[in-house]
Amino acid sequence: MPSVFKNFICLEGIDGSGKSTQIVALENLFKSKGLEVLKIREPGGTEISEAVRKILLDPEHKGKMSDITELLLYNAARSQLLHEVVKPALKKGVAVLADRFAYSTLAYQGYGRGLNIDMIKNLLNITCGDFFPNKTFILDIEISLSRERQQKDKNRSKADRIEQEENEFFERVAHGYRTIARENSGNCILLNAANSPEDIFKLIVNHLNS
Ligand code: ADP
Repeated sequence: MPSVFKNFICLEGIDGSGKSTQIVALENLFKSKGLEVLKIREPGGTEISEAVRKILLDPEHKGKMSDITELLLYNAARSQLLHEVVKPALKKGVAVLADRFAYSTLAYQGYGRGLNIDMIKNLLNITCGDFFPNKTFILDIEISLSRERQQKDKNRSKADRIEQEENEFFERVAHGYRTIARENSGNCILLNAANSPEDIFKLIVNHLNS
């Protein structure tokens, strides 16, 4: 459900698809227009959410954490971020640029882990209420290309618990993202992440202006 706030924009896609590259470009554009911008990255962004992030992504928890625990922790971190950071910013008229949001939960815990999609949608309603990005850009990428980019990226830290999943998991997630884009065409735009960063950015800006 799109929020009443017009400046809540989200980038989605598997790691290495180019989300942060586009967010930085959008941040620069917004700032050049004199707009106040807040960048958020999930999970995290508050003291409590960062503590939850550590638990979620710790490779030591591989094979131990249940899928439902994972689902609830992601939403706990999100709820706190909304409460402390996102809601106050949107209410003040600040533009919010999100590196992942609720569709990540549908894609990873729903399509990736195989949890019930309707159950997740109910939980997302509890977590987000009326606060949902107006536009979500989903960067669609082949798993092999996303891995190639991550390997080349020298700034990237060691693979976390989720990044250590097998290719089949990410295939399901990528398929999930395509389904999400199809089913939410009012507020979701699927973009081919294999294009150049500049071409992708032009498409994003065109959509935001239309
Ligand atoms: P994400 O935030 O989705 O993990 P990044 O924006 O960090 O992805 O991009 C991952 C790597 O791929 C970075 O090294 C980045 O410079 C590079 N990259 C991002 N977008 C593109 C693109 N469209 N084409 C080629 N390389 C890209």
